[in-house]
Amino acid sequence: MMKKQFRNAVAGVVAVLAAASSVPTAEAETLAKNLFGGKALPAATAPKSYGFYSKGCFSGGVAIATDGPNWQAMRLSRNRRWGHPTMINLIEKLSREASADGWPGLLLGDISQPRGGPMLTGHASHQIGLDADIWFTPMPDRKLSSSERENMSATSMVNEKTHRVIDRLWTPAHERLLKRAASYREVERILVNPGIKQKLCETVTGDRSWLKKVRPFWGHDYHFHVRIGCQPGSTDCKGQERVAAGEGCDKSLAWWFTEEPWRPNKNPDAPKARDLMTMKSLPAACVAVLNAPAPVSEAAVTVRGAGQPTSVAKIIDSAPVTANAFSEIPLDRVPIPMFRPEPGQ
Ligand SMILES: [Zn+2]
Repeated sequence: MMKKQFRNAVAGVVAVLAAASSVPTAEAETLAKNLFGGKALPAATAPKSYGFYSKGCFSGGVAIATDGPNWQAMRLSRNRRWGHPTMINLIEKLSREASADGWPGLLLGDISQPRGGPMLTGHASHQIGLDADIWFTPMPDRKLSSSERENMSATSMVNEKTHRVIDRLWTPAHERLLKRAASYREVERILVNPGIKQKLCETVTGDRSWLKKVRPFWGHDYHFHVRIGCQPGSTDCKGQERVAAGEGCDKSLAWWFTEEPWRPNKNPDAPKARDLMTMKSLPAACVAVLNAPAPVSEAAVTVRGAGQPTSVAKIIDSAPVTANAFSEIPLDRVPIPMFRPEPGQ
């Protein structure tokens, strides 16, 4: 009886919420990961992140092309090459500048789903278009096939027993790549395995100020995770606490080399937050993001890199946006994915 009353009450609340936000009841009850995971294209409205890295969504997303002059995207079937335009342009810039530093090119892991939100598998974060995974494995000097991109494994840089970097795999080029990524103002954190952080603490000479952005975290031995801050215009984006002052090569790092962080999870089968989130768990604006019109095509919102510049004119000619798309800003300031040279370059 109690159960039934409770269920009726829940149904009532759902109905009210659904009416208020004009979401069909079924949608309000569907798991958010199924709704966001089912979207093939972004919301064609102004670029905005809503909520937090592990609980939110975003609009105005753009994709990074599967192949660029200095990158190849992996695991194409997941359709996670999407991000806030600032994130995608930053990856493009990193690929170019890392290449100039001597890195052979980036292998790109997951960024976000087209409209963000919780994912069907994997990550807790990557929900608001401001997170990207980049492999520690350098890009081969040939085009990978789509099956290689699905199945090829990255190389773990860390011995899983000692949690220390495997010295024969670690190179100065890895350090330069992380330093380059950390050098961008937009980048607030880079997550790496504690063994990698320790290696940097032991070996980086000269400027060490960038070490504070490089944070130890579980996993991240095959790839590093670049996180940028909330971007201008995203007033409903919830930022992270600032990273602590100092290099982080202190006892906060030493903790990772105790037994405590590696104790087996007491309840490994407990459902993860992303597996339980419904639309009600997310910021209310995510309903509009989910239901917003899509751009006319993926190509219209894909960043191709310096070798194949994407101009505003080309996008508007080849792919006129629908009446609602990008309606919040005038066309001459449409968040078009394009190569923007830095002043002085
Ligand atoms: Zn990640």
